[in-house]
Amino acid sequence: MMRRTTSLVALLFATTGMAQPAAAQRPVPRPPRRERVLVIDSVTVIDVATRALAAAQRIVISGDSIVAVQAMSAPLPDTIDERVNGGGTFAIPGLTDHHVHLTSGMESMLTRAARGGVTMVQAMAGDNRTAGEMARKVLARELVGPEIAYASVMAGPGFFIDPRFSGAGIGFANGSAPWAQAVTAQTDIVRAVALARGSGAEVLKLYAMMDSALVARITAEAHKQGMRVAAHGTVFPAGPLQMVQGKVDLLTHAPYLAWQGAAAVRDEDSWDRRAGPFATVPADGPQIGALLRAMKQARTYFEPTLFVFARRPEERDVNAWGALVTRLARDAQVPIIAGTDGLIESDSTALPNIHLEMQALVAAGLTAPEALAAATVTPAREMHRERTHGAIATGHVADVVLLDANPLLDITATTRIRLVALRGRVLKR
Ligand SMILES: [Zn+2]
Repeated sequence: MMRRTTSLVALLFATTGMAQPAAAQRPVPRPPRRERVLVIDSVTVIDVATRALAAAQRIVISGDSIVAVQAMSAPLPDTIDERVNGGGTFAIPGLTDHHVHLTSGMESMLTRAARGGVTMVQAMAGDNRTAGEMARKVLARELVGPEIAYASVMAGPGFFIDPRFSGAGIGFANGSAPWAQAVTAQTDIVRAVALARGSGAEVLKLYAMMDSALVARITAEAHKQGMRVAAHGTVFPAGPLQMVQGKVDLLTHAPYLAWQGAAAVRDEDSWDRRAGPFATVPADGPQIGALLRAMKQARTYFEPTLFVFARRPEERDVNAWGALVTRLARDAQVPIIAGTDGLIESDSTALPNIHLEMQALVAAGLTAPEALAAATVTPAREMHRERTHGAIATGHVADVVLLDANPLLDITATTRIRLVALRGRVLKR
């Protein structure tokens, strides 16, 4: 009976043309997978780091990587799937918006941001279940959007009555979600950082109501566990200089640096953090001067986020102070990073706000090349991606934006987008 069954099975395999079980155990040879090849002809490639221009170049892309940047006279690859004539446009690496917040329902905004030249974002606080799912969809090419890195927040327990954080931690008591943790001197910091890291975050964002000793302990542990640390310019009571001394990697929001000169900084001042002592602490005074020198020495990155403050033009003192400290930071050779704190407007015709942030940096006194670096090569370095991002070079991810004019001469040229290639795919306009 048994034998008969076996032969029937064998017969079945034979008649259906399927391999028999014994044969199926052998590895089936598969043809090598060939990556899709995209060629972009006739562009002037801009190296943002050196400000060098190379005219009449061809960019050869295989899969999601740049495999050659060469003269037009060089031989073409054997197989080409898509070929684009750049028509003498200027090619820059894709733009990074280093300060966004992702909430569910923003998928179409991510797509519009990518079409507007943003190929990478750093999300700076939110629900990491949302950010993680969006990041996955982008990687799986289920969603056209920028590469997403994201952060977990830490703050003192008093801060978590802020309703924005209860929204980001549905299912958790306030201050207990791994991506939005309340911390004190008694917190098990090793475990808290591990939880934050485990939610997929690359960055710890220190938000408010922490003292300098706690900032230094958390930062040291975060670095041990391979995380970067970004902090508000003041986290109340810890001020900017204390955070630089505590080895925080990046300070965000220019006007918050003014608290460096405040006579006393209390936890509760964090609710009023926009109302710094601008009148009594001049941006070009000695206290801020010492802070900027310390930032330069510690290589602390500075992310002014001028655009988001300029949305309230009535706060003229805040905006003027922020712009001046940004120029002085540039003068002091502090590395500057562009972040908007608001990726793109819901108006479907709007370009992403990173273009306005770069323009705000130029209005503050940076040169156009410096502003462009703040959205390309500098964030690539800060995000430890300088080998793959921030330049149009062999081995880099194929995030390329073609512009009708030279952005090194006029930063508004970044809005004159002819074409965006996102990880090797040309996006529809
Ligand atoms: Zn923010």
